[in-house]
Amino acid sequence: MMSDVLIVGGGFAGVWSAAAAARLRGDDDLRITLVAPHEDLVLRPRLHKLDPAWARVPLKRILEPIGVTHVRAEVTGLDVGGSTVTAGGDTIGYDRLVLAAGSRLVRAGLPGARHLFDIDSADGVARLNGHLGDRTGLTVVVIGSGFTGLEIATELAGRGRVVLLERADVVAPELGPGPRPVIAAALAELGVEVRLGVSVRSVTEQGVVLADGESVPADAVVWTAGMRAHSLTEQIAAERDGLGRLRVDRHLRVSGGVFAAGDVAAAMADASNHVVQSCQFATPMGKAAGHNAAADLLGLPLVDFTPDPYVTCLDLGAAGAVFTTGWDRAVALTGQDAKDLKQTILEVIHPPLDDAEEILRQAGQQSNEVTG
Ligand SMILES: Cc1cc2nc3c(=O)[nH]c(=O)nc-3n(C[C@H](O)[C@H](O)[C@H](O)COP(=O)(O)OP(=O)(O)OC[C@H]3O[C@@H](n4cnc5c(N)ncnc54)[C@H](O)[C@@H]3O)c2cc1C
Repeated sequence: MMSDVLIVGGGFAGVWSAAAAARLRGDDDLRITLVAPHEDLVLRPRLHKLDPAWARVPLKRILEPIGVTHVRAEVTGLDVGGSTVTAGGDTIGYDRLVLAAGSRLVRAGLPGARHLFDIDSADGVARLNGHLGDRTGLTVVVIGSGFTGLEIATELAGRGRVVLLERADVVAPELGPGPRPVIAAALAELGVEVRLGVSVRSVTEQGVVLADGESVPADAVVWTAGMRAHSLTEQIAAERDGLGRLRVDRHLRVSGGVFAAGDVAAAMADASNHVVQSCQFATPMGKAAGHNAAADLLGLPLVDFTPDPYVTCLDLGAAGAVFTTGWDRAVALTGQDAKDLKQTILEVIHPPLDDAEEILRQAGQQSNEVTG
């Protein structure tokens, strides 16, 4: 009898869920459908390079070869009791659901927030690119010195003056003390002006006004602070963490027939740490969730989510990069060596195209193969 695996989201987690489910499919026992509003998988880790085309991967060239149907629509409703979702005005039933709708930058509730730019999506990057054009000598204010803020600030440093605003009293507060000296040295080398312990009161077309009333003129203001799981998670009656992510078990099951993967899921990465929102975890989570959703229907064994050990690789523009290992983020590589690794990662995250055998082969292994 035909059963339905339905996947919501066409990012790393959704696409690899679909591929892992397809890997288990027999001749006519499983129908796999992926619902996502866009034609492309967006490789968000490439977005700081400000080349939206390089970040887009046609979903068709991954899903068609492996027999997964793409319904191009936005899911607006989840009815877990009735095992249906609402998308584009239609109701779609499922036997197993994988929620993989990703994350979004939390838009600041700031006066003038409409003047903010972001690099959260390919559309956001296209808008920023359109605004900056090929002008040089610009002043850009970047708000937030987390992973994304650092990557865009260092990327833009060659094009003019960059002012990096951070509310905490240290740079890169969430990355911890391990890589901080390397990051601080890179910012100094590139001439990025770092302002610590400042918060923004409002944004205008001319720049930002800080909480103490000081104006910082800018040609563009890029907001990078605060990622949150998609609000569809709120439609599932289950425990969520501070980022809005659904708690899942080691099989990435939320409850009953619902699994979650990627930036919407607060899985354990090891005995003591939850995953961070990253493609590094979204990819193996997708593979495990898709496998388990299908296996659950087919009466096959479920797999535990067992990601590679945690690493980070932060691009620092012309100053190279920094690669860290472990949850204390011990620096393992810097400069050009780390930059070369970053480039490899940016290549390796691109899924294979038009090659069912290779897509299904990669879907069968949880290791990211780049650092594992
Ligand atoms: C600028 C930037 C740089 C980054 N750099 C790195 C990095 O260097 N390393 C790293 O590991 N991670 C990095 N990340 C984080 C990484 O990109 C995310 O963790 C990863 O994309 C999460 O994958 P996902 O599939 O869970 O979600 P997403 O990539 O967010 O994909 C979500 C998918 O769901 C779809 N969707 C959304 N809403 C709906 C809906 N209502 N109905 C149907 N579909 C929907 C979207 O269209 C999309 O296809 C970066 C992120 C950004 C923004």
